Amino acid sequence: MLTEEAKNLEEDVVSIHTKVIIKTSWGIIICCLCWMGLAFYLDEPVIALLTGPALFGTILAVVLALLEMPLLARSVWSAFGILSVTLANFTLPSAANPEIMYLVLLGGPFLTFAIGRENFHLMLTFCATAISLSAVLILGNDFFGTPWVNEDIARTYLAPGTLIMVFILIGIEMGTFGILVHTDQVRLEASRRQARRASRAKSDFLAAMSHEIRTPMNGVVGMVEILETSKLTTEQSRIIETIKDSSTALLSIIEDILDMSRIEAGKLALTLQQTEILKVFEKSADTLRHFADAHNVTLSMCYDPQLPKFISCDPGRLRQITLNLLSNAIKFSKSHPEGLRGQVLLTIGFSKKGDLEFTVSDNGIGIAQEFIESLFDPFEQSAAVRRHDFGGSGLGLAIVSQLVEKLGGSVNVESQIGCGSSFTVQFPIVDAKGRIDLPDLTGKTIASVKNPVDGLPCFKKFIEGCNAEFKTFETREALVEAAQTQNDNVVYIIPCGTDEGVGENASIGHEAWEIPEESKTIFLSNSQDQFANQELAGEIILSSSPILITALIDTLVGIFELEFPKQDIRHSSIQPLLAKVEEGGGPRILAAEDNQINRVVLTSQLEKLGHSAVVVEDGAKAFEAWQRGGCDLILTDCQMPTVDGFELTRMIREKEAVEGLARTPIIAITANALRGEGDRCLAVGMDGYLTKPTSLEDLRAALELHFVQVGSVSAG
Ligand code: ADP
Repeated sequence: MLTEEAKNLEEDVVSIHTKVIIKTSWGIIICCLCWMGLAFYLDEPVIALLTGPALFGTILAVVLALLEMPLLARSVWSAFGILSVTLANFTLPSAANPEIMYLVLLGGPFLTFAIGRENFHLMLTFCATAISLSAVLILGNDFFGTPWVNEDIARTYLAPGTLIMVFILIGIEMGTFGILVHTDQVRLEASRRQARRASRAKSDFLAAMSHEIRTPMNGVVGMVEILETSKLTTEQSRIIETIKDSSTALLSIIEDILDMSRIEAGKLALTLQQTEILKVFEKSADTLRHFADAHNVTLSMCYDPQLPKFISCDPGRLRQITLNLLSNAIKFSKSHPEGLRGQVLLTIGFSKKGDLEFTVSDNGIGIAQEFIESLFDPFEQSAAVRRHDFGGSGLGLAIVSQLVEKLGGSVNVESQIGCGSSFTVQFPIVDAKGRIDLPDLTGKTIASVKNPVDGLPCFKKFIEGCNAEFKTFETREALVEAAQTQNDNVVYIIPCGTDEGVGENASIGHEAWEIPEESKTIFLSNSQDQFANQELAGEIILSSSPILITALIDTLVGIFELEFPKQDIRHSSIQPLLAKVEEGGGPRILAAEDNQINRVVLTSQLEKLGHSAVVVEDGAKAFEAWQRGGCDLILTDCQMPTVDGFELTRMIREKEAVEGLARTPIIAITANALRGEGDRCLAVGMDGYLTKPTSLEDLRAALELHFVQVGSVSAG
């Protein structure tokens, strides 16, 4: 494709130069004919003879050009031009000023040959002109004998004639240059327009492709989530988990491709808002908990409590950067040569400059120095990664570097092959507000093991920030021994998971460790099974790999029975919504979705969340149903036959305005993930939007948000 374009361009350039010759030749032919007329009038056949080579050369060049021998045509044209001027200089008296014809020749090579592609011919013609001019200047007009035309005729007729001819030819040359430049500009503009059209077509194609893939993926992801909540055997759970992981991987590839196309189109924009940074980092780390566990990697997090609670940032993009770096670190630390567990640490704090700085370091395969240069280029993967088939598209880091740049920051890498890598991102803190909420634990002691692996030492600052003492024991055995003495003001944190450094005993519970029931103890585990079984037995267990600060704070607050609002990012639950449903019969939901599978998914999801909904196939039916009344909220697909989601919203908002009706919240469920679609939804009067595939959690959050609003409106 590209070579074809280059070939076309080359052909175009050649044909432009040939056209120039043909056009300029007309000027030369007319000049030659005028000279012949003058020769006839003065009865000086010599003058007519001198124009001979120019006329012959020009006609020959035109014929060669028409015979599609453009380079030969142009070479002949130039050669005969130089020959004519040289002959004229050596045969005419100096009174005829024949040297000024060199002015015409000087522009000739540049007009005739393309700089860059035909440099040899250009230089040859230029040198021939220069040699001819030097010869004339050094040797003089009369070097080969007395001039053929007498002085008087030369002064009276030839000098003004030569001047006029030079003017005409230079005029033609300049005009041709002008036409060339203009043609180039027009062509440039046309190709720019074409490139823009092609880029738009590519974006449209990607948007359409994304839409087409997202629609069935909504069926897969939605139903898998529903299935996950039912009773399953271990084998079935494993299968479901694989389907879920594969769907997520597929979606993330689509996201990356869309992002790359946004970057290429210069349309990557940030949505800045007040962002609770700890939550963004904790959610990212929490999302990868299972991924880390499946890859035998311990994930830890270190957060500086001095950081502001809120900054102005794009939370979605910050999460994307963190997820990209963390998932790479986990992926490339999985197969440790000595069979050790991989270690990935996320450290968030201030840089020396006072910017926000976070580092993702791992002890994985590392990156060769020669690859670091192209690390942030799209589709680049190191040879080792390609050889061992780690998967991935090679787009993640290219997107990360663009996003960090958008945030006004930078990303740096340090790595040693076989020893691991460390990616550091820095960007300015804008609009810092508040401090992290910490409970007052004055007089309390938190005791743990000196274990650099689980990231607990990172919490020293936090614990001390709560005015408590952070005490560490050399070994877990020493800690367990200390826990034998019950003290209401001390909490013992005992690591029990399968992490490195934990030792043989991985079981959880006071009984297993022979610790008195009264001793306040938190068990750390990265095993979900242990977690589920033992939590039922009344033990306090905290998920390690990573340990979340908010979860630790909540646990400590619970143990010491303090009054403090819940912090843990994972504490959102569907209970409040379900309770509301049970109390008041539940809000009435109307849903419009044209895809039959997605109708089933949406109905099942709403059922899971405790709602029954009226689900219709298009906007027209939805409008009819809404007009019948009794609808508290509408969920609508954007693209539907007959009346789409946008039109439906317009119709509803219009009728509400005309008849003074209460506003029904409308939430779009769109498969078009391109930026701008959300804005479009809000612009037509919708109240929010969800992207397909819609998770149960996202749907719950959106419904909760809008039902709260409905509640407050009706209460008001
Ligand atoms: P992907 O991971 O999808 O291949 P990325 O753009 O995220 O694409 O990464 C590009 C390449 O950079 C990877 O294929 C790998 O060769 C290298 N790389 C990135 N992060 C790490 C890391 N933590 N350790 C080793 N190599 C890495």
